Amino acid sequence: MNDTLEVCERFCSLQGESSYAGMGCYFIRLAGCNLRCRYCDSAHAVEKSGTLITVDVLVDEAVRTRVPLIEVTGGEPLLQVATPRLLRGLSAIPGRTVLIETNGSLDISEIPSGVVAVVDVKCPDSGAADSFDMVNLARLRPQDELKFVIGSRRDYEWARQFVRQHAAGRRGTAVHFSPVAGTEFSATELASWIVDDGLNVRLQLQVHRMLQIR
Ligand code: SF4
Repeated sequence: MNDTLEVCERFCSLQGESSYAGMGCYFIRLAGCNLRCRYCDSAHAVEKSGTLITVDVLVDEAVRTRVPLIEVTGGEPLLQVATPRLLRGLSAIPGRTVLIETNGSLDISEIPSGVVAVVDVKCPDSGAADSFDMVNLARLRPQDELKFVIGSRRDYEWARQFVRQHAAGRRGTAVHFSPVAGTEFSATELASWIVDDGLNVRLQLQVHRMLQIR
């Protein structure tokens, strides 16, 4: 249905995986995903068995929150046909910044112009390294961001090559490198790799995990 979504959960927390990290955020987590990443921390949202809720109800709920950010996440939110309509409704709420987090495998061109897209590029350790839709690079708007979740030195080198080849010359696209929780290398090592290679990317430490909040 065009006005109803399968919703896994809604909650307020800190945004932790973008240039907006550290800000209060209302999350709308949609159910269902087309990937099965090895490190997935949202397994409860991967199988599509959420609660059916209309766009109007979701927007009304978001209006009543007080945090400056609203993020639609998943699962993979672009799987649901009503997601662009939800994003348009959320964008009309005064004084809020709306983000969508997507796994990069689906066409991002339906995302409304006022919404910030945080687009994953899956590295080899995820098990979904070939999932990124390369055409999405041309669909990125200046406010959109790319995110690589790094599980090993091999992942880092893969992401470094991708950035050098496809993202280094892009103006205005923030690029984030984030370590998988519990990897064999430390965030300090990842930081030193980034500095030694002179990469124009940001280390992302998932502040919500450091504080042990959802
Ligand atoms: S894309 Fe996200 S929600 Fe889907 S399996 Fe991967 S980490 Fe989990």
